[in-house]
Amino acid sequence: MEGNSRMSESADIVIIGGGITGVTTAFLAARRGAGRIVLLEASVLASASTGLSTGVVRQFYLIPELVEMAREGIAWYSRFGEVADGMDADFVNSGLVVGGTSGQREFFASGIKLQKGSRSRILSPSELRDLLPHMATDDLDCAYYEPEAGYADASRACLALAAAARARGADIRQSSPAVGILTDPAGVSAVITKTGEISTRVVVNAAGPWASRVASWAGVTVGIKPTRHKVITVQRPNALTGRHPIFSDAVNLFYMRPDSTSQILIGSTNPADSREEIDPDSYATGANFDEIAELIDRAVRRIPCLRDVGLVANWCGIYDETADGFPVLGQSHEVRGFYLATGLSGHGFKLAPAIGRMIVSAIVDGIKEPAMHLLRPSRFAEGAAIDSPTTTTLTTMRASAR
Ligand SMILES: Cc1cc2nc3c(=O)[nH]c(=O)nc-3n(C[C@H](O)[C@H](O)[C@H](O)COP(=O)(O)OP(=O)(O)OC[C@H]3O[C@@H](n4cnc5c(N)ncnc54)[C@H](O)[C@@H]3O)c2cc1C
Repeated sequence: MEGNSRMSESADIVIIGGGITGVTTAFLAARRGAGRIVLLEASVLASASTGLSTGVVRQFYLIPELVEMAREGIAWYSRFGEVADGMDADFVNSGLVVGGTSGQREFFASGIKLQKGSRSRILSPSELRDLLPHMATDDLDCAYYEPEAGYADASRACLALAAAARARGADIRQSSPAVGILTDPAGVSAVITKTGEISTRVVVNAAGPWASRVASWAGVTVGIKPTRHKVITVQRPNALTGRHPIFSDAVNLFYMRPDSTSQILIGSTNPADSREEIDPDSYATGANFDEIAELIDRAVRRIPCLRDVGLVANWCGIYDETADGFPVLGQSHEVRGFYLATGLSGHGFKLAPAIGRMIVSAIVDGIKEPAMHLLRPSRFAEGAAIDSPTTTTLTTMRASAR
């Protein structure tokens, strides 16, 4: 592009990243009347972690602030039409069961205690058998049951919120990468795009697995390790027709949930599967034969009727992991006006409503809620990383219970 044809414009808030975090923030900022909002998405909306997410929304954490944020997510998705201007995210209130052993009873109980007013409880082995008659549950002495949990279509939610944000005046741009950020002594001063500059005093980095790169343009350090997570869908066997809860297996390290009326979705919760750091621009986006066979094998141990079902699809998405497994949220302590909403790992879909709301209230009203203090970007530099056994998946219950 010739220098004299470059565009120069301004915005009150520029959001970088069109996944669920960015669009939820854009929608809530537009709803709040926060001025001119521009969202830049390098590719298409929901094309990264959001579009590959399994969309489970549940509230089990051992940190009160996280429980509250997750509960906000459940309330949001279960009333999505109301909160998102009549849009739909296909939320299904299926409930969630985590099958565990007696060593995990205390662990489940501590999480339930933090869920003020929830209907979550511990199931006895016989209740578990009644709820999940198609599963081999003899080795499971107790289980966590969360009736309010469910799942939504993460892509649909993201596109719906983008449409609602546009209808409220936000400028949501696809195929529009940010390529740089300018700062001056007062903080952030502009975002550079391929066509010009957008001058602004507020930038929200919602670039998921690319957030470290985006932050580096502003001279901000954020340690994000992108890791690969596999998911498969299989035909739904006859024994599993009808409604059934999401099930997470703390022994065989997988989770499953219904996916449409004819399919079941299965994902791995084995931390060993996803330790390696990957390059988000070039990684294996499909699961290989051995990975699929191994995951099906783990699921069949628990759900024998899956033995003969056909594979429908498989994919691998990215978790943007921080060193302690929890999000980085709020204004950078290094550059004024540069907000981080990243490091969402396997939590980001359920936490997006709370994250978007808190980011908007911090920008517009200068309010910093207790959760934002907990998740503050400076915590790593301060040696105050979060130490909790419930990080990316409920699987970590297993390790903690040993
Ligand atoms: C397999 C899998 C299963 C999951 N299951 C669950 C679940 O059950 N429940 C749950 O709560 N969470 C789950 N998660 C996590 C959740 O999906 C993510 O945390 C969430 O989608 C992250 O959204 P995001 O908007 O922050 O990031 P992303 O969706 O990754 O979006 C970031 C966007 O930024 C864009 N971008 C990057 N660089 C630039 C740039 N320079 N300019 C403009 N745009 C840029 C990218 O193109 C991308 O679209 C899962 C994740 C995966 C991968």
